[in-house]
Amino acid sequence: MRTNQPQTIYLSDYRVPAYLVDTVDLRFELFEEGARVHSTLSLRRNPAATEPGAPLELDGDSLRLESVALDGNNLAPDAYEDRGDQLVVHSVPGQFELTVVTWIEPQNNTRLEGLYKSSGMFCTQCEAEGFRCITYFPDRPDVMARFRTRIEASRQAYPVLLSNGNDVDRGELDGGRHFVTWEDPFPKPCYLFALVAGDLVEKRDRFTTMSGRDIDLRMYVEPRNAEKCDHAMDSLKRSMRWDEEVYGREYDLDIFMIVAVDDFNMGAMENKGLNIFNSSCVLASQDTATDLAFQRIEAIVAHEYFHNWSGNRVTCRDWFQLSLKEGFTVFRDSQFSSDMGSPTVKRIEDVTLLRTAQFAEDGGPMAHPVRPASYMEISNFYTLTIYEKGAEVVRMIHTLLGPDLFRKGSDLYFERHDGQAVTTDDFVKAMEDASGRDLGQFRLWYEQAGTPVLTVSDDFDEARGVYRLSVEQCIPDTPGQSRKKPQHIPFALGLLGGDGEPLPLLLAAGEKNAPVERVLELTDEVHHFEFHGVREKPVPSLLRHFSAPVRVEYPWSREQLLFLMSHDPDGFNRWDAGQRLAVDVILSLVGAPENATIEPRLVTAYRQLISDPELDQALVAKMLQLPSEAYLIELSEDADVPAIHQARERVLRHLALSLRDELMACYQRNLSSGDYVVTPEAIARRSLLNTALSWLLMINDEEARALAARQFSEADNMTDRLGALRALVNSDYDGDRNQALAAFYQRFQNDPQVVEQWFSVQAASQQAGSLSQIHALLRHPAFDWKNPNKVRSVVGVFAGQNLAAFHDPDGSGYEFLAEQVCRLDDSNPQIAARLVTPLTRWKKFAPAYRALMKAALERIRDKPGLSRDVYEVVHKSLAD
Ligand SMILES: [Zn+2]
Repeated sequence: MRTNQPQTIYLSDYRVPAYLVDTVDLRFELFEEGARVHSTLSLRRNPAATEPGAPLELDGDSLRLESVALDGNNLAPDAYEDRGDQLVVHSVPGQFELTVVTWIEPQNNTRLEGLYKSSGMFCTQCEAEGFRCITYFPDRPDVMARFRTRIEASRQAYPVLLSNGNDVDRGELDGGRHFVTWEDPFPKPCYLFALVAGDLVEKRDRFTTMSGRDIDLRMYVEPRNAEKCDHAMDSLKRSMRWDEEVYGREYDLDIFMIVAVDDFNMGAMENKGLNIFNSSCVLASQDTATDLAFQRIEAIVAHEYFHNWSGNRVTCRDWFQLSLKEGFTVFRDSQFSSDMGSPTVKRIEDVTLLRTAQFAEDGGPMAHPVRPASYMEISNFYTLTIYEKGAEVVRMIHTLLGPDLFRKGSDLYFERHDGQAVTTDDFVKAMEDASGRDLGQFRLWYEQAGTPVLTVSDDFDEARGVYRLSVEQCIPDTPGQSRKKPQHIPFALGLLGGDGEPLPLLLAAGEKNAPVERVLELTDEVHHFEFHGVREKPVPSLLRHFSAPVRVEYPWSREQLLFLMSHDPDGFNRWDAGQRLAVDVILSLVGAPENATIEPRLVTAYRQLISDPELDQALVAKMLQLPSEAYLIELSEDADVPAIHQARERVLRHLALSLRDELMACYQRNLSSGDYVVTPEAIARRSLLNTALSWLLMINDEEARALAARQFSEADNMTDRLGALRALVNSDYDGDRNQALAAFYQRFQNDPQVVEQWFSVQAASQQAGSLSQIHALLRHPAFDWKNPNKVRSVVGVFAGQNLAAFHDPDGSGYEFLAEQVCRLDDSNPQIAARLVTPLTRWKKFAPAYRALMKAALERIRDKPGLSRDVYEVVHKSLAD
């Protein structure tokens, strides 16, 4: 559908469906030139519907209608209306069967929604509204039905035919064709429908559930990827066990399948019993995947598996409730990753993403509540706010209730709503009912957009031994929302005495057994807290574990930050103090003269981190990462990106020069010994090794240059090989860079996921990612406009990570992005709309940049036939 004035859809307009579907019988005839879809729906009027005489309206998109029959009789052309995006049958009985035959062309489907072809196989993506590209259907999540699916195709070209549920029938057909029939006993919304047909190899495993049922686990991949399934399979089994132990949730079908697909708009999809994954989010081997990829795969496999309960058994009533399944499931997968690795490191990673990208979204023109009130195109709402902030909201409920009452609440939620399509409010209600806590004010987290700011001030009354803390909350205006009400915020804190010892937090004089950490609950605009029995002015450790998704403003001195960096018992806040110090040092150098001094205590603090092997090395590895340019921009008004970039580079080089010998020792100490393993310790070791190497190459250290070349050619794993490649690419050694890039490509050119990493390393680098080099990458034979991963790895990475080049003062980076967005808009609007994001933040930047970014947005706006997806993002950005 192309339209110039897309309609806005409002939550307040929600009505129950006029018709319900009990069963869906599908027959797919798959051919090279297209597919014929026979769909028989058993329908009945919804007794709860508000308009009892309403005609039957089914959604459709890009379908060719061949026939419509009601209770077996073909309908005359005047009995129905084919409106393109809707099939309307004017007069229907209270209960009936409707058979619709449509013709579709999966081979020409470049939007990758509905049924399409990827690397020669048929596959589907139906969330959010892809099923309507397959057949006419009431395409909304609150219509749940039992599906039976028969797939027919050439046996030779498509030996594997898969759909949801259990495989109940199979056989041969004429002309070298065969069929398989699948039946899913659980009612589900059509967005969870899936189909796969291809020439795939099967990897099998088994899992025994807590009640002793044997589950058949299968992965389907292209033959060349047969050796890259073990990690995902192990992750799946760990997820299944964890969900039983922590949430009491057992798997329900006899078979669980995962399929890897190269061309995929999203990361992965939780279709009932048949999860479909972007290849890059599931395939891994020591030789081709980095530690980061191993961790990401484990998390995504877990996420999709957990959806079987939080999403499939209990689903969303409408798409405004998307965070019901996503926020809760991201929270669950983050708990899982935390249990599998280091909780502190996992928290640091989650918060880094949240503060860098979600806070930016929440402060920009696309800001929306966790439960939005309106949208034009639902695909644009698969956002960091729905996912990551949504998970933080669930996490706060967990903090407020404690683990036991939270579990009671989740049990009640699953029990009460199993088989239903519900709202975020139903979720909160279950938590309230199980715990007896009033979450009335807490619900504002779902309704109000914007990141709350907590302004904290303190004073110390030495005579009375009282330390006073005042906290004021303020929620900034966001598009369509102003004058917001105070929210219910769990605020965890501790106080440290002069020797670094944690002080007991007495809220009343003489309180016995006071804890050293408390979660204060903020509900009013201003709160004053008094802590008694304090002998000297303490250093506050605020918002421990990042107990709420808020900004904290407190006038920390550099002494206090250095003190917290080495003494805070909360690892997260120790890291955070280091980040705040580095941010303060870097931002004070933006626009400063060349000879301005760099805080010497920063060097001392980093020296201690690098040199003390007694410290938690996983935490040290995180603490050594300087705040990213994106985060520094997020914290700036009128950002001048090239100046921020320079200031950050200056600090990095200064640290590397001052700590050269310590870095070299750190490198040697962390050199690999023994087999490659993916444990938190080994990951930390490789991270330290590669950080040391990249810093040393920034100062053109000849010894490090030789070490990098050696590491590049001798590494037995992708983390170290790519670490060396990245260090060489970002160095000033042009010859080494080109040689390494050529050797890397030569070796891995037949592996699309590794080639994507090869593209990314270049697109993210100032040395290898100039605009002319980016254009050359787009012309590279391995680049493919039809493959979203390739587009993201060049265009997305350039605009999102190579910030100094993207924000070139001449505006060429912006023009480039506008051009690529327009180019993609016709073929894949979902991906095009996502690529626009960096331009939407134009108000963050210095006036000269703003004007150029706005001009690029206007250029996109003026493209004829703009998709609804891109239209919404561009118009909201310009309107704000
Ligand atoms: Zn999800």
